[in-house]
Amino acid sequence: MKTKASYFIEKEGKAVQCILCPHNCILKDGAVGICRVRQNNKGQLETINFGDITALAIDPIEKKPLYHFYPGTQILSVGTNGCNMSCKFCQNHHISQANSNSYFARSFSPEDIIDLAKRQKDNIGIAFTYNEPSIFFEFLIETSKLAKIAGLKNVMISNGYINRKPLLEILETIDAFNIDLKAFNDKFYKKITKSKLQPVLETLKTINAQEKHLEITHLVIPNLNDDPVEFEEMVKWISSELSPWIPLHISRYFPHFEVSYPPTPISTLLSFFEIAKQYLQHVYVGNAQNIEKSDTYCPNCKELLIEREFYNIDTVGLDPNGKCTHCHTPVIKNFKDNENQTASRSRKVLPSQ
Ligand code: SF4
Repeated sequence: MKTKASYFIEKEGKAVQCILCPHNCILKDGAVGICRVRQNNKGQLETINFGDITALAIDPIEKKPLYHFYPGTQILSVGTNGCNMSCKFCQNHHISQANSNSYFARSFSPEDIIDLAKRQKDNIGIAFTYNEPSIFFEFLIETSKLAKIAGLKNVMISNGYINRKPLLEILETIDAFNIDLKAFNDKFYKKITKSKLQPVLETLKTINAQEKHLEITHLVIPNLNDDPVEFEEMVKWISSELSPWIPLHISRYFPHFEVSYPPTPISTLLSFFEIAKQYLQHVYVGNAQNIEKSDTYCPNCKELLIEREFYNIDTVGLDPNGKCTHCHTPVIKNFKDNENQTASRSRKVLPSQ
């Protein structure tokens, strides 16, 4: 569905400039932006995929990944099509790099999503995810406002490539973020993702300054961003410019889309884990089985607090307030003591393609 876009400037000759993300695309009448979902219609910018949902499922919150935000709960996850990056390794490229109308989508209003979210058992809220949520800004804002009124939580899984003003608007309704920090190297961002590093760093600083729940994911790709020196610079930056308490997910890459290097060696993931642990309190390795780097330990007494095996979650060492049962250190601020914290699985709400 088409609707008027929120952030644009009218230019001469019916051109417009979209100012939603740092690409700041200037579009002639009829042209579509880099993200594929914003179009100039006779001098007015429109978002052309409002409510066109391509993926909809109940996911464990750990799948986002968010490990310190209501661990063991589930969340209704929604996505559309398009993206303002063009990552050559994107695992969701079939929707992120798809034009509107080239992919199966079902139309939902924000009210439909809220209604669906409320009807799901043990669901804490709505995750805007799968493709880049900032490029479906208007749908995200309307839906997340209604979710707040309904007492639901909102989370956003994002590449962080958004201008400051719309980000500040998003921060009013989103409770938790996982932001991809894809490399600590502008050349990588330019060549592999067709974007820039600095705006992503600014987004991380803004979210952190607003004291919103923030976790970071870093996908390690052989030959592209697996330099340990660069990685160490990145984790030092997270620790000093943001906080040593921000959970970092080091994620294993598998070949997707235009990148065909073999999967990240386990040895690389383990050595990056050791580097990150020097600077950050909570470091996890994801997308890799049998290496036991996904549990949460108390940063004070080192007792096991949350045991994770796939999406089986056991909050074995947390009291009902998210504190360590052994030394009472507060660790998980957003916590719901919940008997269903084991064995949550994804359930698709839209049929698979
Ligand atoms: S949101 Fe889309 S149209 Fe707007 S500046 Fe970014 S890529 Fe361009």
